[in-house]
Amino acid sequence: MAAFVNALHQAPIGEAYTGLSSEELDRRIAAAKERLGRDLVILGHHYQRDDVIAFADHRGDSLKLARIAAELDARYIVFCGVHFMAETADILTADEQIVVLPDLNAGCSMADMAAIEDVEVCWDLLTEQFGDTIIPVTYVNSTAAIKAFVGQRGGLVCTSSNAEKVFAYAWAQKKRILFLPDEHLGRNTGAAFGLSLSEMAVYDPQEMALAYPHGEGDPRLILWKGHCSVHQRFEPHHVHEVRRRYPGIRVLVHPECRYETVQLADACGSTEFIIRTVKQAPPGTKWAIGTEHNLVNRLAQEHPEQFILSLNERICPCLTMNRIDRPHLLWALENLVAGTPHNVIRVEPEVARWARVAIDRMLALA
Ligand code: SF4
Repeated sequence: MAAFVNALHQAPIGEAYTGLSSEELDRRIAAAKERLGRDLVILGHHYQRDDVIAFADHRGDSLKLARIAAELDARYIVFCGVHFMAETADILTADEQIVVLPDLNAGCSMADMAAIEDVEVCWDLLTEQFGDTIIPVTYVNSTAAIKAFVGQRGGLVCTSSNAEKVFAYAWAQKKRILFLPDEHLGRNTGAAFGLSLSEMAVYDPQEMALAYPHGEGDPRLILWKGHCSVHQRFEPHHVHEVRRRYPGIRVLVHPECRYETVQLADACGSTEFIIRTVKQAPPGTKWAIGTEHNLVNRLAQEHPEQFILSLNERICPCLTMNRIDRPHLLWALENLVAGTPHNVIRVEPEVARWARVAIDRMLALA
């Protein structure tokens, strides 16, 4: 009988797993994968540790993994990523397929910044003020409940790969976008469209109020005050410092970084864009990259012909992504082998139905 889980609570997996040697972990993970054969697919986000991503059947960013999940017919999908990604996989797969997150503590601090109750309050306030002129758009880094909220109100999901396309669609429907939960991705995408900062307002869920940091106006874009605790730590002074230390270096950042940092960078784009840009660069190119630490290190290892470092070398990896380690992966796989799946991610059917509407609107734009 599968243990279905809605709340994030990871029981300790015990010494029997955490005390294993590196060789034993690799050997038993490989053996469990072989036992499960075609019943199992392991999906790995690019921000995962090297020793976990080594076991992924597919690697990708959120958009790529969502598309892959939608095509899979495996009985078990083990998602090496964070909670909202596993929820998305559950929404996109058939009812009889089982999605497992190896450690339930692998959440996303950004997704947690938009609670459904707070978003409902915000929506009531905004619609009272602006009437029926708003379409909600949520970054894929959000809970299934937020995706469903958006889907029920004519809105849709976006990822960092397709945010511009989604914004273009949304503004064709309504005058204003409410974008959540990442103010930086929203601001950077609005700016890429030529919106001035004075056309953007910020909704603070703590204050339950709109702020106009660049002059009160008639906002086209309302940004939920949320952020990624990793990407927000790449600041403008890091760009100045790295250029002073390494003349000729190119600065490549993710759009979850602050607007001021993105404005100084040579290029900005999604995780897949960053990987592609580095792959296509000529040998000898120097890069300072503003994204998650594990990915930057992996790019440096895979491209010794280029010089690659983190834009902020004192930054930590994403701590929640790093919750997924080999002991938890092995524990999850051996539970599947035993026929007792643990950490099964199941989204409530009504929530899943509306979240799917919001996701499908995005996928239809591709
Ligand atoms: S890197 Fe940021 S957005 Fe991505 S999972 Fe970690 S906290 Fe969430």
